[in-house]
Amino acid sequence: MKRYALIFLAAVFLPSLVLGWLALRTAGEQRVLLERQATDLHQAETDAIAARVAKAVSDKQQLFASAVRKLVAEHGASALAENYGKLLDTAWSGGGVPFALSPQGRIAFPSPTQARNQTKEDRFLTSNAAFLNNESRVELYQVPPSVPEKKSSVSKSKTGLPARESYWSRPEARSQTQISRNISPQKSEIAADSAQQLSRVAPEYSNFQGAVGASPEGSLARFVDDELQVLFWTRPDPAANWLFGLKLGSEELDALAASALTSLREYDIEVAILNDKARPVARVPADFEAVWKRPFVATEIGETLPHWEVALYLSDPDKFATSAMLITLTLGLLIALALAAILAGGFFVALDTRRQLALAQKKTDFVSNVSHELKTPLTSIRMFAELLSEDRVKEPEKQRRYLRIIAGESERLARLVSNVLDFARLEKHEKIYAKSDTDIHPVIERVWEAESLRLKGAGFSADWSADAGTYMAHCDTDAVAQVLLNLISNAEKYSAERREIELQTRAVSGMLNISVLDRGIGVSSKLAEKIFEAFFRADDSLASHVQGSGLGLTLARRIARDHGGDITHQPREGGGSIFTFRIPLTQVS
Ligand code: ADP
Repeated sequence: MKRYALIFLAAVFLPSLVLGWLALRTAGEQRVLLERQATDLHQAETDAIAARVAKAVSDKQQLFASAVRKLVAEHGASALAENYGKLLDTAWSGGGVPFALSPQGRIAFPSPTQARNQTKEDRFLTSNAAFLNNESRVELYQVPPSVPEKKSSVSKSKTGLPARESYWSRPEARSQTQISRNISPQKSEIAADSAQQLSRVAPEYSNFQGAVGASPEGSLARFVDDELQVLFWTRPDPAANWLFGLKLGSEELDALAASALTSLREYDIEVAILNDKARPVARVPADFEAVWKRPFVATEIGETLPHWEVALYLSDPDKFATSAMLITLTLGLLIALALAAILAGGFFVALDTRRQLALAQKKTDFVSNVSHELKTPLTSIRMFAELLSEDRVKEPEKQRRYLRIIAGESERLARLVSNVLDFARLEKHEKIYAKSDTDIHPVIERVWEAESLRLKGAGFSADWSADAGTYMAHCDTDAVAQVLLNLISNAEKYSAERREIELQTRAVSGMLNISVLDRGIGVSSKLAEKIFEAFFRADDSLASHVQGSGLGLTLARRIARDHGGDITHQPREGGGSIFTFRIPLTQVS
């Protein structure tokens, strides 16, 4: 058994344990994997929103350019420049401060007189006059003219979002000085480890003329007194070369950005558009709060709105840890279950093997028991038969006694052989009962008459107390007699000093209880159920000198159960055993 346990441990249990451990280790890496997947997905989301914001600005710029074109067509460029503020109001509702430059590159609108009573215009002139008149070079961000066209041809990734690479693939040479981003996303494909990440946009130094160049229209951004301004400009008639522009301040830009932020497809994320001071100008869901500078992922909007970011936050920051733990836990549970199943399986296999081995041992014992049982009566039969045949016994009394012994021994032999044959038949389900509705009383009477005579002859007291009447039962009378014979024979075989055997027949609630009571050696409570197992013998016949095959009670119980009854054992008060054979009655009288 020990060897089997070791083989099981080495071949099944230990490898399963190692596999389980490996699986758990893999589960431990789940968190990193989940985070990586989410990073990719969410980064694509912020990229798409950033692209939408940039497009909203560029669309607005084109709307402005077409409004100006219409006005120039109506009024002519120089007339429009004179009265640009009022006329633009008729075709444009997008707010901002209008300005116009003469073909010589001087501010034609607003003139200092026009600006005098208007604070917005006045402030505009103060901060922009020198730059627009090309008298100074300033730090500015110019939107590359290729961006709007590029965006329209953006290749779609599998998620339906624009692929990041094509949006960002811009000429690197434009960057002059590198500036840090004003937020630091937790996850980023570039410089993920460095606390401060570098911005993808960088300012250039130029005067207005240099920035505009020969382009017919465009937009550029610059910071004035730490506030972002975006300048739209258009030259509707290249021959006349008047330039019409519009300055958008924070109010207009916030509204523009917010218009590009639509509702989200996922419920567990929050998105904000952060301005250059890392303050939210728009957010979904509305009014959510977060540590603005530490988003999960973020994308810069680019030169259109320099240092503005689309930032994405997780509504449950512990999400990955929780789901990774859940996966690990589930896997751990499954592995534990599998190991438990393997252990239980191994245990049951071991148990069954043990049972099989015990059965094999019992069968071997059975063969030696039966051989022994056959040999003893055969020896005495031969011996007495020889004595009688050789005429060596003269007294008639002795002759009769020897003949009775021969008859008794051959009866015992017949019973043994029929027990073995019957057991074999029952095992193969070949036993056929000849059942009929009969009165069992005479059957018991017949058996008891012969047996009690024999018992009394062997020095036993044998009494039968019975309820009077007929006991009608649907049964095979030979089988019933066989059960009774087995019980009486056991009472005799396992007797002790007090040689008393009693038979009781009682009808109790539709059943007939046939009890055989003895004052023999009794059955210990430990073995009370075992004695009904096939081949079981409390003491080996070779050792105890009580002969038997271990099949008698097995057979008797099988027959009783096949008749809808049973056989039970009870210890008898004052020593000995009571074996009760119960059989259902069809009618009691
Ligand atoms: P066998 O008598 O051939 O050994 P049985 O199946 O009839 O086989 O009995 C099984 C075992 O039950 C016996 O070996 C014996 O130990 C025990 N047994 C049966 N009847 C009695 C009894 N009346 N008193 C004590 N022990 C008994």
